[in-house]
Amino acid sequence: MRYTWAVESHVGRVREGNEDSFAPPNDGASEGPVIIAVADGMGGHVAGEVASRLAIDAATVPDPDPGEDPAVRVMSANAAVIEGMRADPRHAGMGTTLTLGIFEPDGTLRIGHVGDSRGYLLRDGVLRQLTQDHSLVGQLVAGGHITADEARTHPRRHLVTQSIGMQKIDVDRVDETLQPGDRILLCSDGLTDMVPDDDITDLLLQNEGLSDAAWSLIDAANAAGGVDNTTVAVVDVGP
Ligand code: MN
Repeated sequence: MRYTWAVESHVGRVREGNEDSFAPPNDGASEGPVIIAVADGMGGHVAGEVASRLAIDAATVPDPDPGEDPAVRVMSANAAVIEGMRADPRHAGMGTTLTLGIFEPDGTLRIGHVGDSRGYLLRDGVLRQLTQDHSLVGQLVAGGHITADEARTHPRRHLVTQSIGMQKIDVDRVDETLQPGDRILLCSDGLTDMVPDDDITDLLLQNEGLSDAAWSLIDAANAAGGVDNTTVAVVDVGP
């Protein structure tokens, strides 16, 4: 399978620094296996930035082999963030989300996921969320207590139930069989807090170019207030 991707990140209109990290560092193309990942750090001062960077670096080395379990990489990111806290007390309490996809040569996408960043699949014009948010409101949505739209503006929407850097984490695994024409979106909550899924769908459909699509999403998040850092990875699946 042929994968092409663009990854873009923007600080937004309110925050002073960008605590999101991502991989790969540059746009590109590959037959797979290739790792594409988004991490959204949290913590005082520069700790959030440190946490997301440590997680991405630990999770993406070495290069992937076909058939790998992405949860193993998420666990090594967790170990790296915990070690980072131990090594530098200024970083105590830091954490990060990590949503990591391994795109396989045979068209399998294997996702390992902790936190409230998200993976989506756009197929035949329909956007489907592949990951479940590890957050209070994510649990409320999953239980049918509130709608996804209500979750977006819920006052406690930023309360995550697990993140990288906790002693005990339970990594979600999602496998998806991709088809040519599919488009995958990985993103931080800077996008999904600001832009409803219907608008994300429209922008992904209207912008054929990968970088155009990525920037249209970031522009929409910033137009809606841009209260957080926004990172988006858009991946097109070819024959
Ligand atoms: Mn965020």
